[in-house]
Amino acid sequence: MSQQTQLFIVPTPIGNLEDITLRALRVFREVDYILAEDTRTTGNLLKHYEIEKKIFPHHQFNEHRAIENVVERMKTGAVFALVSDAGTPSISDPGFLLVRACIREGIRVECLPGPTAFVPALVNSGIANDHFIFEGFLPHKKGRNTRLTSLACEEKTMIFYESPHRLIKTLNQLAEYFGEDRYACVSRELTKVFEENIRGTLREIIDSFENKMVKGEIVIVVAGKK
Ligand code: SAM
Repeated sequence: MSQQTQLFIVPTPIGNLEDITLRALRVFREVDYILAEDTRTTGNLLKHYEIEKKIFPHHQFNEHRAIENVVERMKTGAVFALVSDAGTPSISDPGFLLVRACIREGIRVECLPGPTAFVPALVNSGIANDHFIFEGFLPHKKGRNTRLTSLACEEKTMIFYESPHRLIKTLNQLAEYFGEDRYACVSRELTKVFEENIRGTLREIIDSFENKMVKGEIVIVVAGKK
């Protein structure tokens, strides 16, 4: 008999509430508890789908402490779903530590396929996607220059997450390290009403944002070195 899954990693929409799977909704209904990065955000999501479930906080500030307790509950048979605010947990979000702890304890883990921001950004970019690397957020201070220096020689397409207020600074640094003729794409507000994908050289993209207030969530995709 196959072992019962006790941790479901459940992706949630990155903007458009229609992007939830039927399976995700079933899992939410069937598990004993939901672990959420923000209990209010997840509470609103569940309310939208008319699901009532006990939600516990599981975020970067309590993750280390919470894991032991969650694993103990799993050992007595409890089944959990883990969600983040948006997208796939563990992708630039809490989740990895819990998954690793469960695997070490012999607890079965299943990650449902579903929304994540970097896949639509990569595909929308029109940049070669047969080989790519996911960089997530660049370090803000320590290690940033070292990372950019090592990426300057990268031949694979690169994917970065960025916040709107750092976008111009990051684009300028990418142009400085990779050259301003490097092709890239900035995807903003994916799956939402004002989704846009701005494609061109880093110089052209920087110019297109000049004197504009940048808002929303952003993924930067940059072509690798030729
Ligand atoms: N776990 C999420 C995933 O699977 O994509 C990522 C969480 S990370 C804390 C948040 C970052 O994801 C944002 O700063 C942005 O870079 C990216 N992101 C999330 N939603 C997005 C959207 N609708 N459009 C563009 N980027 C998005």
